[in-house]
Amino acid sequence: MTATTLTLVCPSCQSINRVPAARLAAGPRCGSCHAPLFDGHPAEVDAAGFNRHVQHDQIPVLADLWAPWCGPCRAMAPTFVQAAVRLEPHFRLIKLNADNAPEILAKFGVRSIPTLLLFRNGAPIGQTAGAMPLEQILQWAQSHAGAPA
Ligand code: ZN
Repeated sequence: MTATTLTLVCPSCQSINRVPAARLAAGPRCGSCHAPLFDGHPAEVDAAGFNRHVQHDQIPVLADLWAPWCGPCRAMAPTFVQAAVRLEPHFRLIKLNADNAPEILAKFGVRSIPTLLLFRNGAPIGQTAGAMPLEQILQWAQSHAGAPA
């Protein structure tokens, strides 16, 4: 069996960390800023942070595209936090304010929010529009990403 190391972007300082896969669930901290790499909350990102997580995280990245004026988005926000509690550390959950990232909406053809985008190793592997209850988010993410290692 080979020792697998995963690169993970720190949600606090955006540094790229290398974490042994076996230590993923052991509360790993960032080597630069010492913040926990997983804290049970979606990481709030801008467009640059979005791209950095998508490109460098070697775990599936689940992104919630939302906006402050969007009622269904705000209604789903607590559910997305619960999803982070359930899916970390096998997934990285991030939140992107769609108002600040029109280029990302255009790139992925996002026409309505909330939209969830799922990536693995930089490639989009799932996209769904509309608010969903927790169990549906978990089921959707896990079925598209495959079972966690
Ligand atoms: Zn950090």
